[in-house]
Amino acid sequence: MSFALNATQIVQLVVPGVAVVFAFSFLCVWIYERQRFFLIALSASFLAFASGSASQILHLPDAWRPNALISATFYAASILLMSEGVLRRRGKPFHWSTGAFIFTAVIVGIYYFSYVAPDLLARIYVLNYCFGAVLVATALQSRSKVRTRLDDRALFWMLLAFGVSFFVRTALTTGKSLPHVTAQFAQTAFWLALQLSLALLGAVLALLLLTTAIVDLIERLIEERDRDFLTQALNRRAFERRGARFVGDPKRHPVTMVAYDLDHFKSINDSFGHAAGDTVLCAFCQIVVTTIRANDIVARIGGEEFVILLGNTGLSDAHVIAERIRLALTNVRFEKIAESLHVTVSAGVVQFQEGESLPVMLARADRLLYAAKRSGRNCTVSERLAEEIDAPEDRIA
Ligand code: GH3
Ligand code: MG
Ligand code: MG
Repeated sequence: MSFALNATQIVQLVVPGVAVVFAFSFLCVWIYERQRFFLIALSASFLAFASGSASQILHLPDAWRPNALISATFYAASILLMSEGVLRRRGKPFHWSTGAFIFTAVIVGIYYFSYVAPDLLARIYVLNYCFGAVLVATALQSRSKVRTRLDDRALFWMLLAFGVSFFVRTALTTGKSLPHVTAQFAQTAFWLALQLSLALLGAVLALLLLTTAIVDLIERLIEERDRDFLTQALNRRAFERRGARFVGDPKRHPVTMVAYDLDHFKSINDSFGHAAGDTVLCAFCQIVVTTIRANDIVARIGGEEFVILLGNTGLSDAHVIAERIRLALTNVRFEKIAESLHVTVSAGVVQFQEGESLPVMLARADRLLYAAKRSGRNCTVSERLAEEIDAPEDRIA
C-alpha cells in the first residue's frame, strides 16, 4: 500500500478536512455547555463522516470489499449520531433500538452486496435509501408545534432537503454500470457528484447546526443575565427593558401593573434566618407564576419587592388577581420554618396610561403600595379604588 497522495486525492481530502473542522467547532461549543451532550453527538457525527470519507479517498484499506464495509460503518454511525444530536437538542427521544436495527441493516446489506453478491448499485441504494429515510424521519420528528426561531426553521428545512437529496442522488445511478474497485469508483461522475453535493449540503447543514447551538448558548446567557438567581423571576434590568416593550404593545392593552412588597420581611429574616427569608421569597414568586398567564411578566425589582404586568387586563380584573395572590400567600403554611410563621404582602395596582413611561407607572403603583402599607398592610390598593382599601378578615397584623 502506498501513502503517496495524488493531486485528486489531496483536493478530495478537503471534504473530510472541513468535516473535522466542524467536529472541532461543536466540541468548542460543548466546552461552554457541558450539559448539552447533543454537541458531542454532533461532533462525533462529523468525525465519523470524515473517517468514512477519508477511508474511501485514501483507499484504507485498499481492498474494495473491506473498504466498502468500513466506510459504510462510519457513514451509518455518522447519520445516526447526527439524528441523535438533532433529536436530543429538541428534547425528543432517540430510539437506540431503532438506530441499532438501521445500523445492522446497513452493515448486513453492504456485506451481502460486497462479499456474497457483489453489486455496487445495490450498495448505493442501501446506503442512500437508509440515510435519506433516517434524515427525513429526524427532520419530521424534530419539528416543534410551537413557534420556533428562524435558525430552527432553517435547520428543519435543510435537514429535510439533505435527507431528500439522498433519494435524488440515487436517480443519477439508474442505468449506469459503476466499477467496484475503490480507486476506480472514486473517479466516477456519481462519486464526484455525491461528494460535491454532500460537501455543499453538508456544509450548509453543519453551519446551521452550529448556528443553532451558538444561538442556544447566547439565549441561555441572556436568560441568565435577565433572571433573578433566587426566584427565577425577571430582574430589575430585564423588567425595565421587557416591561417597556410590554406596555408599548397596543395589542396587550389594557395593561395593568401590580407592585408587591412583603410585609415585615426583615423580621422574618431576623427571627428565622436569611435562608427562611429566601424560602418565603421563592414561595411567593411561585404563587405569582402559577396565578398569572405565561405571557404576563413577573419581576423581582428589589429584595422583597415584586412587580407584575398583566396584558389585556383591566383595573378591576387586575385587582381580583392581585387579591388572589395576596390571599394565597396568607394561606401558605411554612411548617418547615415555623408553625407560627404567617407571611403577608401589600400591593398597589395601576392601569397603564397612554404616553406614560414604565418608571412613571411604577412610581404610581408604588404610591398605592405605600398607601396599603400605611393602612395596616396585608391589603391591595388599586387606583380609583384607592378610597376603598380592602380590610379583609384574614389580615394578620
Ligand atoms: P415593610 O412591611 O414596611 O415592607 O417592612 P420590611 O421589613 O418588609 O421592609 P424592610 O425594607 O425594612 O426590609 C426588607 C428586608 O429584606 C431587608 C433585607 O435584609 C431583606 N432582603 C433583601 N434581599 C433579600 C434576599 O435576597 N433574601 C433575604 N432572605 N432577605 C432579603
Ligand atoms: Mg421593601
Ligand atoms: Mg417589605
